[in-house]
Amino acid sequence: MAKIFCVANQKGGVGKTTTTVNLAAGLAKVGQRVLMIDLDPQGNATMGSGVDKRKLELTIYDVLLESASVAEARTTSAKLIEGGCGYDILGANRELAGAEVELVEVERREKRLKQALAVVDAEYDFVLIDCPPSLSMLTLNGLCCAHGVIVPMQCEYFALEGLTDLVNTIKQVKANLNDDLQIIGLLRVMFDPRITLQQQVSDQLKAHFGDKVFNTVIPRNVRLAEAPSYGVPGVVFDPNSKGAQAFVTFAQEMVDRIKAM
Ligand code: ADP
Ligand code: MG
Repeated sequence: MAKIFCVANQKGGVGKTTTTVNLAAGLAKVGQRVLMIDLDPQGNATMGSGVDKRKLELTIYDVLLESASVAEARTTSAKLIEGGCGYDILGANRELAGAEVELVEVERREKRLKQALAVVDAEYDFVLIDCPPSLSMLTLNGLCCAHGVIVPMQCEYFALEGLTDLVNTIKQVKANLNDDLQIIGLLRVMFDPRITLQQQVSDQLKAHFGDKVFNTVIPRNVRLAEAPSYGVPGVVFDPNSKGAQAFVTFAQEMVDRIKAM
């Protein structure tokens, strides 16, 4: 049985995509079978995994509209495999933005992804879903099929405020659509220990959320930001960088956490 996780935060630019692709690569590196799903029409996780979104014939869009199965639409990339971090990719491109409207008339539209994933469940240990920066129908499809949510966040002044909306949405989805759903953890990303404010917010997070805050902290590291332009996660681009090492440590922390789930 695959464990399915959404990487979500309704704010943009907080590190969702970086977390998704590097966690996918890190998990693959420690021997896990991983499917990475790009649920964002921007297709950054697709490109950042070495798949050209403009050349994709089948995407998550086709899966949501039931014109293709996951098995038909998934792909992988040679760069990932060469880097020893091969994972499968269900890609996205701009076409996905239309799904929101096209699904309006459909019954049980928020369960489309869940149904599609049931068929490939046995083939993976982890399914990671990169969510768009909104609490839309797309995100809802992710939340409906997930066992948990990973929330990347920067330790900044407004971080806690933004969290309230996400926590409420997760509570509502849990109450109405997916009883399994829980926040697996808050992941501190782009962390700079020299900045006092970041330390303070990090302490506040731990005080409020206790062991829901992951032990691993992802540092601000330029190699993680450079990697997408080479079409690979930082874990593949520069395995010795501080950022890559942190994501492999985080992958191991996730493996340990799900054993306890
Ligand atoms: P989101 O998917 O939430 O919009 P991204 O993962 O695309 O966020 O990250 C936003 C920007 O921050 C990107 O340019 C990315 O390369 C950069 N970034 C993310 N994490 C780090 C990090 N740990 N260190 C340095 N840059 C980072
Ligand atoms: Mg993103």
